[in-house]
Amino acid sequence: MSSDRIERLRKDVVRGAQKIYAKGINEDGEGNTSVRINKNEILVTPSSTNYDQLTPEKIVHLDLDGNVLSTGVIPSTEVKMHLGVYRDRSKVGSIIHTHSPYVTMLSVLRKGLPIMMEQQITFLGGEIRCTDITKAHTDEMGTSAIEALGIKNAAILANHGAIICGKSLDHTVRFAVILEKLAKIYWGALQVGETVFTIPEENFEEHEKLFNALFACYPRRLKKK
Ligand SMILES: [Zn+2]
Repeated sequence: MSSDRIERLRKDVVRGAQKIYAKGINEDGEGNTSVRINKNEILVTPSSTNYDQLTPEKIVHLDLDGNVLSTGVIPSTEVKMHLGVYRDRSKVGSIIHTHSPYVTMLSVLRKGLPIMMEQQITFLGGEIRCTDITKAHTDEMGTSAIEALGIKNAAILANHGAIICGKSLDHTVRFAVILEKLAKIYWGALQVGETVFTIPEENFEEHEKLFNALFACYPRRLKKK
């Protein structure tokens, strides 16, 4: 792996993490952003990221067993969840973990997102599930995230936040923004106290095709027969 490519990817992680911060999706010290370098290595934001002061040198280089491979400060304890998803899903090129407000409000209600808008199918793959409660910063949280993700690009983590994945960092940043927007819409709609209408199944096909062609990154074993 050329060191030039790793240096470029370090800058990409900083850019992606700062974009998420600028959009108010992660506060200082919260959340994490990672990219895959190759089959066995990733780069991830450090523990307690101070987003304004994040630099490429602070990004942590790890193998998928969690061993630190080169420069970078202490990895986030939440990296176990990223590693679990990268190990399980070889097509995932980037992961973002958030504690964004609307997603987290739904997470304490243990609610997922029904399919309210077609873009939810195109970009995220459909209905978003909420995990069962686990202890934060454990391998168990990774396992439960993988289960809730299924074929999708996002899952809500009970009493915690969300995990979002994509083929690339740019996709994943976009999906994190869409997820928080959808959570905000659902939260707002629930306040009115009437039925939240969902998209009918006969409208799914075209959007599922786009998802599978452009944005899906789930393991082959989950592919619909
Ligand atoms: Zn977290």
